Amino acid sequence: MAKTTFADLFESEAVILADGGMGTMLMAAGLQPGDSPELWNVEHADEVRSIHRGYLAAGAQIILTNTFGGNQRRLMHRQLERRAVELNQAAAVLARAEVDALDRRVVVGGSIGPTGVLMAPLGDLTYDEAAGIFEEQAGALVAGGVDVLWVETMSDLQELRAAVEGCRKVAADFPIVATMTFDSHGHTSMGVAPEAAVEAFGTMELLAFGGNCGNGPEEIEGVIESMHTLAPEAVLIAKSNAGLPKMVDGQQVYDATPEVMAEHARRVRDLGARIIGACCGSTPAHIQAMGQALKG
Ligand SMILES: [Zn+2]
Repeated sequence: MAKTTFADLFESEAVILADGGMGTMLMAAGLQPGDSPELWNVEHADEVRSIHRGYLAAGAQIILTNTFGGNQRRLMHRQLERRAVELNQAAAVLARAEVDALDRRVVVGGSIGPTGVLMAPLGDLTYDEAAGIFEEQAGALVAGGVDVLWVETMSDLQELRAAVEGCRKVAADFPIVATMTFDSHGHTSMGVAPEAAVEAFGTMELLAFGGNCGNGPEEIEGVIESMHTLAPEAVLIAKSNAGLPKMVDGQQVYDATPEVMAEHARRVRDLGARIIGACCGSTPAHIQAMGQALKG
């Protein structure tokens, strides 16, 4: 089947089902606290492949690469910063191969998460340095074959801008989307309200934008409602966590069941989201239930 572009998906589908949590699935597969998820793209490639397959079998039309923490600043925690290009490219190649083996329209999003450090003047990361770090990551993801660059879980507008600029430098007209995390009373942890996010997103020529992660369905539904009111024409992304984490027998378990997330999928669609998936705590069972609900 000919390669599906992000634009093809938009033309053929009213609502697009994205995948769910990667970290959750890696931990279930044996990733230990302190391990690098990105290193699994080369050292446990079969596990990463099988996570992609799980989401594809659940009906996901967009899958994200296992590169959320793949920028060199974050890889530095595990002395892997010199392997940023290798690990991102390997992740993209893995996801690409799973999608190319299918006989339906699916695209690969190259996940780009935050650096985890504060930008200057609060911290020591300058805007130009950040843009360069994201450019390196985006370049490797594109070289590995992603269809769209997927900036996610951003809290700081400056870092968001740096990430999008880094992506843009790789290929001026490459598809880019971005989402922020509104986990502090409807604002990001850096105090950005959905209104300010929409204003910033609007200047970036993104194909889609929205919210991900956070404190569960209700929170993101409020965010999408605000964004849809402000930007009714925008393609909005909602990737909520599966509720809130609770400790059960020493394990982190998220409290939203597939049924709860299925109801959320319908509600968030009705509020204006067009790309709907999930984030931390979700599994292929959640995505499958959400996909079923969206067909109804
Ligand atoms: Zn999350």
